Amino acid sequence: MKSHYQVVVIGGGIVGCSVAYHLTSRGLTDVVLIERTELTAGSSWHAAGGFHAINSDIDVAALQKYTIGLYPRVEAESGQAIGLKMTGGLELAGTPERWQWLKAERAWLRTMDTDAYLLTPQEAAAMVPIIDPRGLTGALFDPHEGNLDPHGATHAYAGAAKKGGAEVVLHDRVVSLLRTPGGEWRVETERGTITAEHVVNAAGLWARRVGNMVGIDHPLVPMSHHYLVTDDIPEVAAIEGPMAAVTDLEGFTYLQREGDGVILGVYERNPRHWKVEGADWDFGMTLFPEEIDRIMPELSIGLQRFPALQDAGIKRWVHGAFTFTPDGNPLVGPVAGLPNYWAACGCMSGFSQGAGIGLVLANWIVDGDPGLNVFGMDVSRFGPYASEDGYLRATTRQFYARRFVMAYPNEELPAGRPLKTTPCYEDLLAAGARFTVNWGLEVPLYFASRPDFEEIDTLGRSDAEPIVAQEVEAVRTAAGAHEIAQYARYEVTGPGAEAWLDHLLASRIPGVGRIRLAPMLGEAGRLKGDLTVARLDEERFWLTGSYYLQVWHQRWFSEQMPGSGVALENITDDWMGFSVSGPATRRILQGLVRDDVSNEAFPFMTVRTMNVGTAKAVVGRLSLTGEMGYEIVVPTNRHRTLLEQLREAGHANGLRLIGDRALDSLRLEKAYGIWNAEFTQARTPGMSGLDRFVAFGKGDFIGREAAERERNQGGAAQRLVLLDVAAGNADASGHDGVWHQDRRVGSVTSGAYGHHVGKSLALAYLDREVIETEPELTVFVLGEARTARILREPPYDPTGVMLRG
Ligand SMILES: Cc1cc2nc3c(=O)[nH]c(=O)nc-3n(C[C@H](O)[C@H](O)[C@H](O)COP(=O)(O)OP(=O)(O)OC[C@H]3O[C@@H](n4cnc5c(N)ncnc54)[C@H](O)[C@@H]3O)c2cc1C
Repeated sequence: MKSHYQVVVIGGGIVGCSVAYHLTSRGLTDVVLIERTELTAGSSWHAAGGFHAINSDIDVAALQKYTIGLYPRVEAESGQAIGLKMTGGLELAGTPERWQWLKAERAWLRTMDTDAYLLTPQEAAAMVPIIDPRGLTGALFDPHEGNLDPHGATHAYAGAAKKGGAEVVLHDRVVSLLRTPGGEWRVETERGTITAEHVVNAAGLWARRVGNMVGIDHPLVPMSHHYLVTDDIPEVAAIEGPMAAVTDLEGFTYLQREGDGVILGVYERNPRHWKVEGADWDFGMTLFPEEIDRIMPELSIGLQRFPALQDAGIKRWVHGAFTFTPDGNPLVGPVAGLPNYWAACGCMSGFSQGAGIGLVLANWIVDGDPGLNVFGMDVSRFGPYASEDGYLRATTRQFYARRFVMAYPNEELPAGRPLKTTPCYEDLLAAGARFTVNWGLEVPLYFASRPDFEEIDTLGRSDAEPIVAQEVEAVRTAAGAHEIAQYARYEVTGPGAEAWLDHLLASRIPGVGRIRLAPMLGEAGRLKGDLTVARLDEERFWLTGSYYLQVWHQRWFSEQMPGSGVALENITDDWMGFSVSGPATRRILQGLVRDDVSNEAFPFMTVRTMNVGTAKAVVGRLSLTGEMGYEIVVPTNRHRTLLEQLREAGHANGLRLIGDRALDSLRLEKAYGIWNAEFTQARTPGMSGLDRFVAFGKGDFIGREAAERERNQGGAAQRLVLLDVAAGNADASGHDGVWHQDRRVGSVTSGAYGHHVGKSLALAYLDREVIETEPELTVFVLGEARTARILREPPYDPTGVMLRG
């Protein structure tokens, strides 16, 4: 071991070894992996070694596909056998709705160029004869699933990393991490001290403890998990060649072949946390005693689905621990305020995700950018709230218990809620609000007039849509008030503020009293934000962005911040308010202010400070609904008063409270995109249409060169368009594939029913030549083919007359 390395990777599980391998693949060879005891000594050694590509986040799914595809190469490069068996995998459906869901999954897999097949229960049972097909509605067979030897795979990554130049040090524990005055990391281990430019926390079951060494509390916890291994089963022994893995979705179990017997794993509804603070440092490669009573309800369903197991002997139980995060995806990437500390932890599916994590992290360390949209696994997607013990326990428990449980798109899950509420929460609740959650904050979805209305979970269009339709109509014909506590606000001040923003944002910087839509780009010209910038004073600006991107955006801001002349303060929790829009809005606002709010005095895209009712407010003249509107923001302690006064003034003018669902319908009628659907870090201004806000005529800004290159090459290969979908009783949703005959030509980013225009609408990225020729297209909605056509202009107010009001 040397005294200095460029990168120290802490932890020799599948993730740490993959990170070391990917670093060397990217040409970084001054790398050491330090392992407390032996490689695999955390969760990796006792994993069942199964892998699959499906994930509810399409970008994470693509990385899982990458992981699976890489195994043969790592085996070949290292010379270490990994026992790879591409068995394929069956998912069993036990209800008609699940069958529909599997059809949708098949369509999603096709958009990822993976051909999966739908089977009857009998066909599934013919493939895996120990399945009892009774009660099943069908199955999906994905040929790209399988399993491997976890020990072999981990050692293969380590071996290939060593061949690539990395060192692997065993039986040495990292005991502390300190920043040196020169900005490096001093890594103290049991056997000595190293300095390093970068440290990677791939410490698995101990990752929370390693995070604590640098003052962070990562939102991850170990939970215990069982599988059993049977003695030989004649029906299995009789199968020549590989046997498909099986996931019984309604049965909470998974099964795979192990010799001539099987492994049966259980995701019980009564899970158990273990060592929430992280495993003890001296925890060895030991298993827990099995807790059969606790898992019996699900185990017995498994024994009914696979009756041959009832007579099979149990060779061994495996009851070990692995880590979970609130949404089940790992924590990867840099942490704001800790330059060159990298997270690669919280991974519950190391054999499906290990290579994807390694790839992303190596790109990030080498290029300063992950190269892909990895928000779904970015460590910055959670705020500090997520590490609070009660929240973390509740959400991880919920995730584990629902691992195979059907997820409906309109379903609201209860764990850890309500966590954060605005001062208007009780008033909105009393007004019939049904809430969703955004980064821990309760946010109204819609307002039901009947107190006993209970929305039914469904894959199709919800029974709450008639309520949403009324809210849409209120906005189009009178006025709607939408709570905007879910916007993040940053105040940027100082003599250097304008110059800094001019460099940070691709738009022009507005004059005092004006607002601009401001795309923010990374160096590679991909989007970093779809912000608005309002200039309240010569040296005082407000940046507004998505609430849930606070940590993500602040990480970027802090990386770009100059040494002096600019101050940035996150004022999100200090200011909140309502966005009020619709033709009657001006009348309502005029009743609450002394100032002239006519179009001449207060035109579109301007901002004013004025007294609204009894509060000093910052009022912006813009809206996301396509109607004339104002965003009224007040100090948080006046938020409730503002609501009261707005409702009073709005009563005679048809003002109605509206929620996020109405906003989705309204914005799609105007073809407006939002972050994490249309706008992501995988998209460029040219693709997303945000190029119309890029000021190519101004001086230098981050991402300029790449954005110009795109423009000079004649624009992006794909562009965002609006589709009119001949949908049935379900609207398109993110990642549904768009096809022209047998060719996939794009994918949907979001869909909703446009209640005012009476159309099922979808925003989608499509290949440019398809947009030019406008053929009839097919969108797979819930797996069913629906015709769709491109709309040349938004179906509502295409010239923006209403908006400019
Ligand atoms: C029963 C069971 C079955 C499973 N089945 C599957 C499956 O079929 N498929 C699948 O994909 N996943 C499965 N998993 C999950 C899988 O095991 C984990 O996702 C994966 O092993 C996580 O790998 P890791 O590298 O992040 O962490 P770990 O394997 O926990 O590795 C972390 C390593 O870091 C080392 N370390 C920690 N702190 C320090 C320190 N301070 N200094 C030096 N070294 C340190 C530890 O000794 C350890 O070796 C299963 C888990 C269990 C418990």
